[in-house]
Amino acid sequence: MDFEYDRSVVAKVEAISSEYDEKYWREKCRNSQFPDEYWNSISKAGLFGLMIEEKWGGMGRSLLDLALGTQETAERYSGLGSYLFLSGCLVSTLFAKSSEEQKSKILPKLATGDLKISIALSEEKSGSDSTSLESKALKTSKGFDLSGSKRFVNNVDRADYLIVFARTIPIENSGKKSKGLSMFLVPASSPGIKKKKLDKLGMDFINNFDIEFHGLHVSDDDIVGELDNGWYNAVDSFNLDRVATAASLIGAGRLAVNDAADHSKKRIVFGKALGSNQGIQFPLAEAMAQLITAEALMLKACSLAGKSQNFTNFANLALLEAESAASYATDRALQTFGAHGYYKDYDVERYWRDVRVHKIHPISEELLLSVIAERQLGLPKSF
Ligand SMILES: Cc1cc2nc3c(=O)[nH]c(=O)nc-3n(C[C@H](O)[C@H](O)[C@H](O)COP(=O)(O)OP(=O)(O)OC[C@H]3O[C@@H](n4cnc5c(N)ncnc54)[C@H](O)[C@@H]3O)c2cc1C
Repeated sequence: MDFEYDRSVVAKVEAISSEYDEKYWREKCRNSQFPDEYWNSISKAGLFGLMIEEKWGGMGRSLLDLALGTQETAERYSGLGSYLFLSGCLVSTLFAKSSEEQKSKILPKLATGDLKISIALSEEKSGSDSTSLESKALKTSKGFDLSGSKRFVNNVDRADYLIVFARTIPIENSGKKSKGLSMFLVPASSPGIKKKKLDKLGMDFINNFDIEFHGLHVSDDDIVGELDNGWYNAVDSFNLDRVATAASLIGAGRLAVNDAADHSKKRIVFGKALGSNQGIQFPLAEAMAQLITAEALMLKACSLAGKSQNFTNFANLALLEAESAASYATDRALQTFGAHGYYKDYDVERYWRDVRVHKIHPISEELLLSVIAERQLGLPKSF
């Protein structure tokens, strides 16, 4: 896993991320504010175009750049604020099978950060079992009418568009539930969309919504990728997301462990530095070892992707290990801070709340384990 690697892009991300310190993210999260200044800095540097081909105004860089950039962003104070960087970069990959017209309309604006797009996939009855979704797109003479509802969607209040997954072939005729699904590009401010803001445990810099839409008209040109083949068009993007999410967790875990180590050097308890006790050192050292193990898996996934080899197994392994390592890291970091850590004067309670999401989203721990059991141990598919 030796990389001959040009760090120029990561260095840019690093420089911008360093400008937005822990105080910035603390304030944004406390006030539930979207970090516009950070978003604008990344936009101005063209970094949201990281995964977009140069002919559409992007940088045409690799998964490795995205992963290392995300990890740097997380480790340099944002923690899971890094989610905005990775999702801002990754959404472009959902357009891989789109028409040239759609690419020319959307990709250059994504590259400059002028468009924000959220993904509306989950529904009340189809969370983990996502391909059993029931939202429908009915063909009309002028396009499609979309009806249905979606749950937990990120950033609907700030997004310009939503990519809505809907069924274009009824499930009883599609042969397989993952077939006959399509993605549609829908203006997020469409009057036909009703939205309800949700309260949640963490990730306070972004709002989440349930949405509902009935007879929402879209044109044929608003199909993202291929008609009826939306799930298969999206799968590559989901795999990239798992690797970048692993990187984000690794960065967030390191941030928490480093914070805890610093605190333990300064805090005097029983007349000596807290961090001089092995009972404090060992969990932090163990957390760091787990984060580095997850990082090795994440880099292996990037290396395979860079050689155009299948990286799905390593994407799953990296995410599983990273979510476990980051959860352990933030938990032990909070323990190191003691009562101080439970209060919002420090950041560690936020790191702990934030990383918890990735045991559930974008794919849960259980589903990852099921996929690994099936693909790597040859056990029967359990869902
Ligand atoms: C902060 C946040 C942001 C999100 N953003 C978005 C978004 O932008 N767009 C979007 O579409 N969705 C989003 N989601 C939804 C998310 O991706 C999942 O679809 C959703 O969390 C699944 O949750 P559920 O409650 O429906 O789980 P359920 O499907 O009800 O499952 C409940 C639990 O049971 C486990 N489980 C289910 N089946 C099995 C099985 N066969 N074996 C063992 N265990 C099983 C699951 O792993 C889970 O832990 C978001 C979720 C969160 C928390």
